Amino acid sequence: MDAPKIHTSYWMETYGCQMNTAESNALEAALQAAGMKPAKSAEEADCAILNTCSVRKTAENRIWGRIGFFQHLKETRKMTLVVTGCMAERLGEEFLREAPAVDHVMGTNDKQRIAALLSGGSDERDVRYTFTESYHKEGDVKSYVPIMNGCNNFCTYCIVPYVRGREISRSPQSIFDEIDRLEQSGVREITLLGQNVNSYDFTWQGNSLRFPDLLADIASRVDSVRWIRFESPHPKDFSDELIQVIAREPAVAKHLHIPVQSGSSKILGLMNRRYDRERYVQLISKLRSAVPTVTLTTDAMVGFPGESEEDFLQTLSLMEEIRFLEAFMYYFNPREGTKAVEMPDQLPAEVRMERLQRLITLQRSITHAHKMQRCAGKTEVLVEQVSKRSATEYLGRTEHDEMVVFKPRANVAVGEFVPVALQGLVGNTYNAEHLV
Ligand code: SF4
Repeated sequence: MDAPKIHTSYWMETYGCQMNTAESNALEAALQAAGMKPAKSAEEADCAILNTCSVRKTAENRIWGRIGFFQHLKETRKMTLVVTGCMAERLGEEFLREAPAVDHVMGTNDKQRIAALLSGGSDERDVRYTFTESYHKEGDVKSYVPIMNGCNNFCTYCIVPYVRGREISRSPQSIFDEIDRLEQSGVREITLLGQNVNSYDFTWQGNSLRFPDLLADIASRVDSVRWIRFESPHPKDFSDELIQVIAREPAVAKHLHIPVQSGSSKILGLMNRRYDRERYVQLISKLRSAVPTVTLTTDAMVGFPGESEEDFLQTLSLMEEIRFLEAFMYYFNPREGTKAVEMPDQLPAEVRMERLQRLITLQRSITHAHKMQRCAGKTEVLVEQVSKRSATEYLGRTEHDEMVVFKPRANVAVGEFVPVALQGLVGNTYNAEHLV
């Protein structure tokens, strides 16, 4: 006999990276399959789920703030609060001691059990963990597919290896099955996800499948999925073999995000990134000669302990040299539990912020120059949705992940690839003419 359903609606809040967004989608699918419905607001929900992020202290502080909000809410009405994600993994039982509002602390990959618990009901406060599986929202034309979890790298500023644990790769068959299902449901673009995605290595009965072969296998079996992306690769694991697969397989998008973090070899050493400036520059040059149409984005950090003005200038010069299409830029934020917190020569916040501002100013001008250069070009976009601004306009994205708005001159549908001519830029979005 089924347990009585005490929760019929849920409210989901997601913090942090795309991995968390993907996992929240999966969890929502599991909750809906168990008969629960999304609530219109946190105040109306039977239960709230916070899928948390530990990467920065500011993210954790924000989540503690939200837990305080739910604490107040629970004084006026009965509801259940679940915490999952990185903070749940990092703090575990501490949540139950420190936050009386939290009812359940659960592992990131425990979706079916969360769904069963919430739809079936439980009055006990507890902590549980397990592992694996993924997600897809009905109607999406692009989707994320986690292929590995955890990280063995221990960059000195990063908490991920402590909260997500060591690398575990998912079986190729379950990845293929999922991609087949996604393709049949109308997905046209997939992003393979992992904290260190290109160190994927699945071993069974003396066999081993590494990332370049997995990517090639996926590229050769998809049909209506046109763009395969992967995120985030580590430069030290970016092999020549992988470059060849990207160059050879039309279905692998020619747009890559390769975090560099710093242009100074000294700082890269202190970060324990296990490559230096020269090796990174060589990697990009190999990629560009093998894949001339490739566009690149990156992550760059300033203000790491010990970063001198000279080190910072090397980051600026690397950005000028490589000329990324876009960059996610941030300043070093000491993260409790990592080695970098204890390093000497911590920089004052004003210095970190001032350097970040200089980096952003430089990158903005590079991005703008890139985008203006591409303005007169013809390209293809994957139609993602009708524009919220006007029902006569559609939004799509290019292979290089650029947002495009256009007025259709013939029938188009979400999920189609259509040819357009880029005409101008408004902010970061291109206006385009639909070519028929
Ligand atoms: S590669 Fe480094 S930054 Fe990325 S998740 Fe692993 S430890 Fe963190």
